[in-house]
Amino acid sequence: MKIAKEFTWEMGHRLTFHKGKCKNLHGHSYKCMVELTGEPDKNGMVLDYYDVKKIIEPLIDEMDHSFMVFSSDKELMHALQTLNSRYVVVDFETTAENICLYLLDKIKSAKLPENVSALKVKVFETENTYAEEETCI
Ligand SMILES: [Zn+2]
Repeated sequence: MKIAKEFTWEMGHRLTFHKGKCKNLHGHSYKCMVELTGEPDKNGMVLDYYDVKKIIEPLIDEMDHSFMVFSSDKELMHALQTLNSRYVVVDFETTAENICLYLLDKIKSAKLPENVSALKVKVFETENTYAEEETCI
């Protein structure tokens, strides 16, 4: 059985390696779909949606109305500090693929119950583009 919950957040970023428009500071209304696979417990739940929210919402809150900055992008980090603006430092280029892996890793390391056997994360950068990865728990 699979259950899923959707989360949304607004976030700025730029791709430092990009030769086109994506090297500029810009933002997206990101969406992620978190899917959990497992056997339902005796009450008929894979995991209470409330608990799904409790695990994932702090990660979303950290990114919401924030800038995601690649740690090697010192110029941008300095600018955000000067502006006293929120940012999240990560050690990767902030592509949808890397954000997907970042969330997958964070959620995987949260305490998921034993009946949950697989986790899938889809990160939508726009309405019609997404990156997806899954892992066993
Ligand atoms: Zn972008």
